[in-house]
Amino acid sequence: MTQTSYDYDLFVIGGGSGGVRAARLAAQMGHRVAVAEYDDLGGTCVNRGCVPKKLMVYAGEYAEHFEDAAGYGWTLGDTSFDWNVLKRNRDAEVRRLNGIYGANLEKAGVEVLRDIAVFDDAHTIRLVNADRTVTADKVLIAVGGYPNPHRALEGHELCITSDAAFDLAELPEKIIIAGGGYIAIEFACIFNALGVEVTVLYRGMEILQHFDMDVRRLLHAEIENKGIKIITKTIFEKVERKEDGSLRAALSNGSFWEGDQIMLALGRLPSTEKLGLDRAGVQTDRKGCVLVDDHLKTSADNVYALGDVIDRVPLTPVAIHEAMCFIETVFKDNPTQPDYVNIPTAVFSHPQIATVGMSEDEAERTLENFDVYRTIFRPMRNILAGRPDRMLIKLVVDAADDTVVGAHILGPEAGEMAQLIGIAIKACVKKAQFDATMAVHPTAAEELVTMYEPTYRVRKGKKVAA
Ligand code: NDP
Repeated sequence: MTQTSYDYDLFVIGGGSGGVRAARLAAQMGHRVAVAEYDDLGGTCVNRGCVPKKLMVYAGEYAEHFEDAAGYGWTLGDTSFDWNVLKRNRDAEVRRLNGIYGANLEKAGVEVLRDIAVFDDAHTIRLVNADRTVTADKVLIAVGGYPNPHRALEGHELCITSDAAFDLAELPEKIIIAGGGYIAIEFACIFNALGVEVTVLYRGMEILQHFDMDVRRLLHAEIENKGIKIITKTIFEKVERKEDGSLRAALSNGSFWEGDQIMLALGRLPSTEKLGLDRAGVQTDRKGCVLVDDHLKTSADNVYALGDVIDRVPLTPVAIHEAMCFIETVFKDNPTQPDYVNIPTAVFSHPQIATVGMSEDEAERTLENFDVYRTIFRPMRNILAGRPDRMLIKLVVDAADDTVVGAHILGPEAGEMAQLIGIAIKACVKKAQFDATMAVHPTAAEELVTMYEPTYRVRKGKKVAA
C-alpha cells in the first residue's frame, strides 16, 4: 500500500449508506480514511427514509390486522393509536442504528469528523466549523440529497416534505400529498392506515410512473378502496393559510382543497449547492447532480461520487453496491462498473408493490415477441377476514429464448418476494425453470411457479390470445 503525503488516503464527504461503506472498506485495507458528517450517521435511509418509514408502515398494518382478527375468531377490546409512542420508539431505533454506524466506523479505524466539509480544491477539504483544512489523495462525494421544496409554488413554505412528516407534533386530520412517486404513495398509505383523511395529487395520468401499468392501475384501485382519494392530471396552483390556521390549496383543475397539512413529495435534489465543487473542478448537471463516468469518477481526476448525489438510481442498496465498485476500482486496481441491470425494488405502500426487470411497456419497446403470465386473486389470508383486497402476480417472458425478463407483484409481502425473484431474474432463469420449480403450498408466492399458460402473447406489437 502506498502512503501518500496527504493527511488522508481517502476523505469521504457524507456519512450515509454509500459513504460509510466505502470508508469502512478502505480503512479495513489499512488506508487512512476520514468521513465528514455534520448530521446523524446513516444518511437519509437511516434517519429520514427507509428505516423510520418502514417502522411506520408496520404501525399502519396493525389497523387492518385488528379488523381481520374477528374473522379468525378473535374478539379484541378497544384499540387506539398514539402517534407520540410510535415516534418515540421509532426514534430510539434510529438512534440505535446511528450508534452501530459510528461503532463500525470506529472499529474499522475511520476518523469521523462531525463537521461540514467543503472543497478548497480537489485535494483540500475545509472543515467549516473547525475552521481548518485537511488534504486527501482521493475524495469521495456521498452527500445524498434532500426533498425538493418546490420553491416555484406560491405558498411552498407552508407545506411539509417527508423530512418534516416524520416529526409532526401530531397526526393531521386531513392531508393532501403532491406527487405520484415512491414517497407520495408510501406516506399516503401510512397516514391513511393511521386514520388520516388523505388525498394524493398527481400531475400525470397514473401514479408510479416506471412501474408496470397493471400494477399501477390495481394499486390505484386498491388504495382508493381503502379511502385514499387520488386526483390525477392536476397540480397545485397556490397554497395559503386561512385565518383559522388551516391550509387551503388552489388546484389546477379549478377546485380547492382545505385541511391541516400539505405535503410535497415531488422528487429530491442533490445536496451539492454549498460543496464548492467548482473549486475542485467537479462538474454537475443542470439539477446539481455530480457527473461521473462509468467508474464513478468525476471531472476531477482524484474525486469520485456515488449514491443519491449522482443522477442514477437513488436507492440505498445501489449506493452500497457503488461503494463496493469504487473500492475495487480505486483501491484494488480492479476497475469495476456498477451494474444497474434488473434492480429489484419495492414500494411499501399498502398493499405493497414490488418489481424487478421489464414492465410490459418496456418489453413492448425492446422485445419483438413476448408472453405475459398474469393472475389476480384474493390471497388466502383475506378470505376468513372478509377483506376484498386482491393480489397480482405477473411475469413477462421473452418469447425468443424463454427468459423471464420481468416480475411484478402487488400484495402482502411483495417486497420480500421481490428479493427472491430478483435472484432468479438476475440469473436469467427461463420460464421452463419456473415451471419445473415445485410450488410451496399454500402460499401466495406459489403463483409464481404455477402460471403454466400465458394470459396473452404479444407478437410484433400486437396482443394475441394465448
Ligand atoms: P419520485 O421520483 O419517485 O417521484 C416524484 C414524483 O413527483 C413523481 O410522481 C413526479 O411526477 C412528481 N413531480 C416531480 N416534479 C413535479 C412537478 N414539478 N410538479 C408536479 N409533480 C412533480 O421521487 P420521490 O421523492 O417519491 O422519491 C425519490 C426517490 O427515492 C425515488 O425515486 C426512489 O428511488 C427513492 N425511494 C425509494 C423508496 C423505496 O425503495 N421503497 C422509498 C422512497 C424513496 P412524474 O411521475 O410525472 O415525473
